[in-house]
Amino acid sequence: MGAALEIRNLHVAIDEKPILRGVNLTIKQGEVHALMGPNGSGKSTLANVLMGNPAYEVTAGQIIFDGQDLMELEPDERSRAGLFLAFQYPVSIPGVTLANFLRLAINARMKAEDPDSKGISVSEFRKLMREKMDQLGMDHSFAGRYLNEGFSGGEKKRAEILQMAVLRPKIAILDETDSGLDIDALRVVSEGVERLRGPELGVLVITHYQRILNYIKPEFVHVMYDGQIVETGGPELALHLEEAGYEWVREKYGAAE
Ligand code: ADP
Ligand code: MG
Repeated sequence: MGAALEIRNLHVAIDEKPILRGVNLTIKQGEVHALMGPNGSGKSTLANVLMGNPAYEVTAGQIIFDGQDLMELEPDERSRAGLFLAFQYPVSIPGVTLANFLRLAINARMKAEDPDSKGISVSEFRKLMREKMDQLGMDHSFAGRYLNEGFSGGEKKRAEILQMAVLRPKIAILDETDSGLDIDALRVVSEGVERLRGPELGVLVITHYQRILNYIKPEFVHVMYDGQIVETGGPELALHLEEAGYEWVREKYGAAE
């Protein structure tokens, strides 16, 4: 049986202001979900809570990951348990290449699982990197890039997708973050997900870009509005949003103004 991320009646506040108001969402290994919704609806708040950002207070509800209470786990424990949160992009570290960084990440994972682990060997690591970069259609030279070199939005996403490919999480949460309508970044994420998707990987892609179906084919589409998931459907829901925008969502679920 595969792992699942189960969000049950989640309420979240920032500075005592309620932001999420009862979110229910389950993502299983092997499933690709898209979370859409207008700006300010609470999508990134959900991603921040999953990541363990202490500014966000869970006031009610539960998040269960692979049978464990996620709130009991530190961010690095979440990652080790198999949850990947893509915007954990490393702060720039002078003189460290992307390959160095990924090797450190793999070794930390192996050490956490077995304190006697010597980590991954240089040759095994090279082989793994070659394999994953080929799978993702990435130029091998990319791994030699220095983290402090100033990656573009698309390159940051490429680095995250590569990190996801080598860490092989059970469930990955990919937030579009503040890049907003950075189509290059969305394309990188979507292509990466399409190439990596399979029975072992569950994905939640968070975006407010309405034309996502040009890039990714989620089995499940959810619309967040004012801190709740108000609609869930298949790709046809994304198609409808592409054609009609979010106005009907506001009319149907918005407070009378
Ligand atoms: P989305 O990602 O869907 O655009 P957000 O989760 O970023 O939405 O924001 C939801 C609401 O929470 C907005 O009203 C936003 O102003 C508020 N919010 C988000 N983060 C913070 C924060 N760190 N401090 C105060 N308010 C916040
Ligand atoms: Mg956001």
